[in-house]
Amino acid sequence: MTPRLVIDLAAFERNVAALQARVAPAKLMVVVKNDAYGHGLESIVTRALAQGVEWIGCLDLGTALAVRAFAGEAPRLFSWLLSPDENLAAGIRARVDLGVGSPAVLEAVAATAAALEIVPRVHLKIDTGLNRNGVRRESWAEFVARAAVLEDEGRLVVEGIWSHIAEASDEEDDLARTRFDEAVDAARAAGLRPALRHLAASAAGTLRPEFDYDLVRMGAFTHGIAPAGGPYGDELGISPTASLRAPVLAVSDGEAVVGVGAWHGLPSTAAGRVTVAVRGVARPVIRIEPEHLVITSDAAIEAGDEAVIFGDGSEGSLTSTQWAEAIGTIPEELHTRVDARIPRTYLN
Ligand SMILES: *Cc1c(COP(=O)(O)O)cnc(C)c1O
Repeated sequence: MTPRLVIDLAAFERNVAALQARVAPAKLMVVVKNDAYGHGLESIVTRALAQGVEWIGCLDLGTALAVRAFAGEAPRLFSWLLSPDENLAAGIRARVDLGVGSPAVLEAVAATAAALEIVPRVHLKIDTGLNRNGVRRESWAEFVARAAVLEDEGRLVVEGIWSHIAEASDEEDDLARTRFDEAVDAARAAGLRPALRHLAASAAGTLRPEFDYDLVRMGAFTHGIAPAGGPYGDELGISPTASLRAPVLAVSDGEAVVGVGAWHGLPSTAAGRVTVAVRGVARPVIRIEPEHLVITSDAAIEAGDEAVIFGDGSEGSLTSTQWAEAIGTIPEELHTRVDARIPRTYLN
């Protein structure tokens, strides 16, 4: 027996439906970076599309091309981690909507598209304060003016204006939203007619409707991953879809050895701070070794039992959010660290 990550796709579907309802009339973009936060790209995208999601957020072009290959022409794909020397041609040929956050990428997209005789859709990114891959406010007017020229020349279409916010404090986010509105106004003043504005990710998109605009980009909440420190799933209307499970390998002297460890992605600093569940009962984790973890045991545990390392909480286990809180990190880190070699098993 080996460890496995079990993903409940019906729970994913319920999360997505709840989030779609919450952001309507804005649309939900399901963000699938890092192998859909470790949940498995193809299964997650396929299920999202089957329930009517139109937009998939891919981060890098490689992911977007992979999704285009298995999902066909219908879904709108958005990719935003681009550099001028990247294989932009492949993304343009695959009809990927491109998030453009610098003049250099704008020029590279226009030049590549001209050579291909394809008119790509771009979404221009304003830096609203995060200082991460976006055009700064002082350069924005010049940037949108240049984009308007390129659009007039028929070399690209400015489909959207977008930004990303920290979602760490309401005040900062409010300031970012004001800057975002100013950037959209400036784009319109330059003659652009962006159909789509998008700013929020999971937290602001769910909790602050004024951030929804036309599209909301969500990753974590679709998998039921609630933020460390709250608000939690019951308040958000979501529940965790993944449970990490591993066999009890041996029991002796009040300890049991479970077959998953640090090299499978568990942070060893969690020892002494978390529990795992066996037969519905939480058991303190004493040590986390490279290949195993060791828990307290008694006559109720037998080799061959399956321990739930983290899950939705219904089987006596912690959630990944509670693990994250125990060691001072974010739950996404636990999910993206789950070793790619651990098989993903899907429940429909
Ligand atoms: C990761 C990411 C998201 C999704 O964030 P969640 O908090 O997981 O919903 C949205 N937008 C951008 C630009 C991102 O990088």
